[in-house]
Amino acid sequence: MDACKCGAPLRAVGAQTLCALVPQRTLNGLSSLDGFGFCDSPTCSVVYFRGVDSASIQADELDVLVFEKADEPTRLVCYCFGFTVADVTGPGRDRPDAPDRTILANCRRGLANCAVKNPSGHCCMRNVRGLLRQDPTCCSATDGSAHAR
Ligand SMILES: [Zn+2]
Repeated sequence: MDACKCGAPLRAVGAQTLCALVPQRTLNGLSSLDGFGFCDSPTCSVVYFRGVDSASIQADELDVLVFEKADEPTRLVCYCFGFTVADVTGPGRDRPDAPDRTILANCRRGLANCAVKNPSGHCCMRNVRGLLRQDPTCCSATDGSAHAR
């Protein structure tokens, strides 16, 4: 996989992710939607980059705040079920219906739609666990791409 122009490694994203989250006027300016990767560096303003022609899409072109690129506690971390950073890190974390438990349970029931909801195209569980300072693994044994399709 390519690196972003900032040097960070990119994570492949499918055309369906771009179609769902990038405004049409930006999509219209691209030759194709293939070959883009997601940059998760918080200090880089590029959210999607393609090495072959250096096409880039800035985080502020998206209608949603990108978790990895912002620091507002009101931004979403779980785009499928609508939980913000404040929801996840707030009080009530020990409750059976705490956001992280709800997200995990919903993922396991196959209710997540990360590929078209989450700007990264992947499951948010790694970011949720990062916020909670837990082992940043996903709900699946590998990395969440299982339900990113
Ligand atoms: Zn970057």
